[in-house]
Amino acid sequence: MQSLPSEAHVVIIGGGIVGCSVAYHLAQRGCTDVLLLERRQLTCGTTWHAAGLVGQLRATHNLTRLAQYTTGLYEGLERETGQATGFRQVGSIAVAASAARFEELRRGASMARVFGLEVQILTPREAQERWPLLSIEGVVGAVYLPKDGRCNPVDTTQALARGARMRGARILEQVKVTGIRTAQGRVTGVTTEAGEVRADVVVNCAGMWAREVGALADVNVPLHAAEHFYIVTEPIPGLAADLPVLRDADACSYFKEDTGKLLVGWFEPVAKPWGTGGISEDCAFEQLPADLAHIEPLFAAAMRRVPALESAGVQVFFNGPESFTPDDRYLLGETPEVRGLYVAAGFNSIGIQSAGGAGKVLADWIVDGHPPFDLWDVDIRRCAPFQRNRRYLRDRTVETLGLLYAMHWPFRQAQSARGVRRSALHERLEAAGACFGEVAGYERANWFGAPGSEPRYEYSYGRQNWFAQSAAEHRAVREGVGLFDQSSFAKFTLKGRDAARVLGRICANDVDVPAGRVVYTQWLNERGGIEADLTVTREAEDSYLIVSSCATQTRDFSWLCRSIPQDAHAVAVDVSSAYAVLGLMGPESRALLATLTDADLSSGAFPFGSSRLIDLGYARVRASRITYVGELGYELYIPTEFAPGVFDALTEAGGAFGLRLAGYHAMNSLRIEKAYRHWGHDISDEDTPLEAGLGFAVAWDKPGGFVGREALLKQRVAGVRRRLVSLALESAEPLLYHNEPIWRDGRLVGKTTSGMFGHTLGVALALGYLENDAGPLSAEWVAAGRYEIEVAAERVPARVALRPFYDPASERVKC
Ligand SMILES: Cc1cc2nc3c(=O)[nH]c(=O)nc-3n(C[C@H](O)[C@H](O)[C@H](O)COP(=O)(O)OP(=O)(O)OC[C@H]3O[C@@H](n4cnc5c(N)ncnc54)[C@H](O)[C@@H]3O)c2cc1C
Repeated sequence: MQSLPSEAHVVIIGGGIVGCSVAYHLAQRGCTDVLLLERRQLTCGTTWHAAGLVGQLRATHNLTRLAQYTTGLYEGLERETGQATGFRQVGSIAVAASAARFEELRRGASMARVFGLEVQILTPREAQERWPLLSIEGVVGAVYLPKDGRCNPVDTTQALARGARMRGARILEQVKVTGIRTAQGRVTGVTTEAGEVRADVVVNCAGMWAREVGALADVNVPLHAAEHFYIVTEPIPGLAADLPVLRDADACSYFKEDTGKLLVGWFEPVAKPWGTGGISEDCAFEQLPADLAHIEPLFAAAMRRVPALESAGVQVFFNGPESFTPDDRYLLGETPEVRGLYVAAGFNSIGIQSAGGAGKVLADWIVDGHPPFDLWDVDIRRCAPFQRNRRYLRDRTVETLGLLYAMHWPFRQAQSARGVRRSALHERLEAAGACFGEVAGYERANWFGAPGSEPRYEYSYGRQNWFAQSAAEHRAVREGVGLFDQSSFAKFTLKGRDAARVLGRICANDVDVPAGRVVYTQWLNERGGIEADLTVTREAEDSYLIVSSCATQTRDFSWLCRSIPQDAHAVAVDVSSAYAVLGLMGPESRALLATLTDADLSSGAFPFGSSRLIDLGYARVRASRITYVGELGYELYIPTEFAPGVFDALTEAGGAFGLRLAGYHAMNSLRIEKAYRHWGHDISDEDTPLEAGLGFAVAWDKPGGFVGREALLKQRVAGVRRRLVSLALESAEPLLYHNEPIWRDGRLVGKTTSGMFGHTLGVALALGYLENDAGPLSAEWVAAGRYEIEVAAERVPARVALRPFYDPASERVKC
């Protein structure tokens, strides 16, 4: 056995498929001073018992790119390392047993096309021809992905480990990491049972132990294990060795040929969390007791789809633990708490198919110091600190396992572990009929039900049950006045005599403005990509209020704190919980507000983009004249304990103005009409302000410059090849969500990034990027095209505009 070295550039904790993939890709990038430490034996955690399905289609473009990469990698790994992987590109078939499921599959197929995946839509008979044991009773249609595959997870892990070793990485088994050392917010190494290792970078790939391993450095890694079941039958005569993997999500089941037998596994809607109190020291190659009562109804559903199971004996009942995250997406990247400490864990039962791509991008992230492209879906910085709470994790895990095969309805909300974060106005909104949705644990009113009705989602791909209610909220904001509870906003202060200088470097816009001004700005990385999209209000010479979204609270605060030079006199504080926020929006908002304050609200005294402390009812609040809906309006920042009083005063006075409470679905419709971007959908760290059409918010020549300026200047000279545009369908059906392909003159040129029905315009709208391979993308090029958006494999004519469809000159906002 090799002895433990005293230092390594990178220490990886955990020798499952993910840790080995990170080691392999680091070594491939030339970073060979890598030490992987495994407490027992490689693969002994979850990897050894995985079923080995390797699918490629994921919910978003970049995650699909990663899964696609994984199949390519596994395909060539045996040739490269000499270690067999059992990889076979047998393809996969997903069958639909309802019209809605078939729509989901066809929408997925359209998306797959944008991503360059081969995909075919099959009739039930065609599916049966490829999978003879399939019963097509109740099957409406199917989708076939010929490049999907399967592998042997243990052998694949060994091949990755061998590939890493061949390039110089060291892998030690039987070494448990017992501590993570840090100094001044940076990782400095690990302690183990066999001694200490100094390191510049530490990667937590500890699978279902990753939460405890993170806690060694007080880092939040929210995941929880659940029991996960499959069976393997006795040999079934005539089973073809190249049988595609079969998925029947309506029966929660998947089927894979396994040396002449069938492996049948499940993603049941109500799962069994495991290991809440901690995972035992001895846990290695763990097999949990079979729970026949739990799998019986699942087995019955699988037998209906594959009747041959009725007569096939069962050789193995398998139950093994796997880790799940609160939103069913894995956790990747540098932790916001400790520099140099990275995570790749919480793979929600797709760790084999994700390991190749995740290992590659994490290695790039470590070597280059930033992710190679937008990885926000899986970025660990999306997690809120409360999410490490064990009870929350256990309760949410009951639901997350099943979500993999559940209908991925638009606007679908989690049902478990709800009510975690509530605004001070929650009960009032509830009494008014709010239907809440959840973002990072925060309950937010998405829409308000009609009086006397129960505000509950009835999901579909078409107009859902709240459509008319939300339309009325939308109209109230356009024509009269609406009130939004936006308390979930993330809010930070930056104070100190250097605050203006520090923030000036971070913001692309000029924030060295007089006190009482609000500036809309982006924070950019060195490559010009948009790291954050927010508003900055100068409260005083040495004080700023920074407001961004609930979903990016951890990420943005970490970016801010890390951008403050050590010697600067500027202190950032997260004050999100200190203020409730009410958005009073619409042409009547000024008249309504005027009944409750003696502040001068005239446009001369209180123009668009200004912010004042005003009396409102009995309270003193900050009113900012800005909007995310494209109308005259005010965001009111209210010290939390005053919020109910202010809300009551506004709603009481609002009666005379027809004030209507409005939710986030109406806001989304309003903002898409006005083409206001949403970070995480329409803009990300790989889109620049020029591509996103946000050049107006760049102060090119301000003193001191800003991070990202050089990259942006280069792009300005070269011209952009891709550009965010507004899109509107020419017909009222279907509805758009996101990731729909955009065709120009019969050629695929981009995809939508967010979509919603626009109630003022009366059509389905989207924002999305167009790309011109042939050169810079000009307004003429945009105008010259004939456009279609593909929805569920059908193309629908669409209009495209560089400017917003609604009020392009912003006259309504500035009145
Ligand atoms: C029944 C079942 C079927 C599955 N089928 C599929 C499938 O078909 N396709 C698919 O893509 N995925 C599948 N999965 C999921 C997949 O197995 C996992 O997502 C994947 O194996 C996770 O790999 P990992 O490296 O993150 O974790 P692990 O394999 O658990 O590796 C983590 C390692 O860290 C080590 N470790 C922990 N703490 C320490 C410490 N302090 N010091 C040193 N080492 C430590 C552990 O010993 C362990 O070996 C399945 C899972 C189950 C349970």
